Amino acid sequence: MKKSIALISLGCAKNLVNSEQMLYLLDEAGYALSPDPEGCDAVIINTCGFIDAAKSEAIDTILQMAELKAASKLGKIIVTGCLPERYRDDIRAELPEIDAILGVGSFADIVSALDEAFAGNIVEYFGDKNAPVDELPRVVSTGPSWAYLKIAEGCDNFCAFCAIPYIRGRYRSRSMTNILEEARSLAEHGVKELIVIAQDITKYGTDLYGKRSLAELCSKLSEIDGIEWIRLHYTYPDQFDDELIDEIASNDKIVKYLDIPIQHINDGILRAMNRHGTSDDIRQLFKDLRQRIPGLVLRTSIIAGLPGEGEAEFEELCEFLREAKIERAGVFPFSPEEGTRAAKMEHVDFETAQRRAELIMQLQSEIMEEFCRSQVGKTLRVLCEGYDEEQKMFFGRSYADSPDIDGLVFFDGAGCEGNIVDVKITAITDECFLVGEEV
Ligand code: SF4
Repeated sequence: MKKSIALISLGCAKNLVNSEQMLYLLDEAGYALSPDPEGCDAVIINTCGFIDAAKSEAIDTILQMAELKAASKLGKIIVTGCLPERYRDDIRAELPEIDAILGVGSFADIVSALDEAFAGNIVEYFGDKNAPVDELPRVVSTGPSWAYLKIAEGCDNFCAFCAIPYIRGRYRSRSMTNILEEARSLAEHGVKELIVIAQDITKYGTDLYGKRSLAELCSKLSEIDGIEWIRLHYTYPDQFDDELIDEIASNDKIVKYLDIPIQHINDGILRAMNRHGTSDDIRQLFKDLRQRIPGLVLRTSIIAGLPGEGEAEFEELCEFLREAKIERAGVFPFSPEEGTRAAKMEHVDFETAQRRAELIMQLQSEIMEEFCRSQVGKTLRVLCEGYDEEQKMFFGRSYADSPDIDGLVFFDGAGCEGNIVDVKITAITDECFLVGEEV
């Protein structure tokens, strides 16, 4: 009888790709994959561990699984990813319910780890986190029509508040050949939209080819039949050059949507956080991008309450956001992460950081609503992702919507899941979703 395995994937899209690779290896090894851990022979929890909120979520999930195990409703508990990579000793000491722990350099060892755990051993695998990126097939767990494409692993930017370089290791690009091969395979399986990810995609190729190679990669990705949309996430503000901007502007398959985390705008804070580039550089970049790429939608990430942020610096940030009108934003209160330089710097308490984050979210929701209203009357290309029985409408995403973090478009029409259709926008909902009819 095949042993049944469930996998819970926490954290970012890069971690999800590792989960998908483990799903492929488990399937290849003949394990039965189950969506529900209850009743399974084992559960794999692929964790995130870079900020407090993520760590709490991972530990809560482990404790929930431990309850199932204690009630004999679950066999083994396998914990992988960033949490064990960062806290292997604490996990060993404080969570004896766990049967196996694997670091970020050992996703490829998941089957051996399971076999050993089923043999009754307590298992630990901590491969080299700076080793070349695993080139493994995956079971794509996202929609039939879109998939993440991870082009590199790790990070060398060492932003002062960030623990990721210490968890995920140094920056390692995948070879362009392997990336294109994977993209072709995804296209053959019906994927229309590729979401290009890494900790910093604009650094792609600098380690492997000695030069920034994202523009070249995007050009080659767009030659693949079946791929219609290429979406760029996690770019770094000071890594844009004319070649990349021209490629984004002229390549019809690259959606005019750019995710550019800036974290803050105050020069003193940017310097203290080891962020490359100044506030003027960021303003000039946004101005150039909007001029050279008509209809561009910008997404960014902001951290409120960073060391050095007083009321004046916070107001400067708010004033910049009011002026820049960035259509999409993820906003986080500063979380002092042990082992980072920022954690040792003076900073406001968490309540103040949280309050400031909420004020920015309010400011951003007004900007987002203004953007949504400006879409009424336009005809947008929408990737149809299904039919909503409750709304009695098809739904999907426009170029301005990345999965899980942005909005949706609901529309009347023939619709066809997985296809990109034209939708005339007629209204917006209270949640700032767009509504329209297929044309
Ligand atoms: S760019 Fe900065 S914030 Fe992003 S992963 Fe690298 S060190 Fe962390």
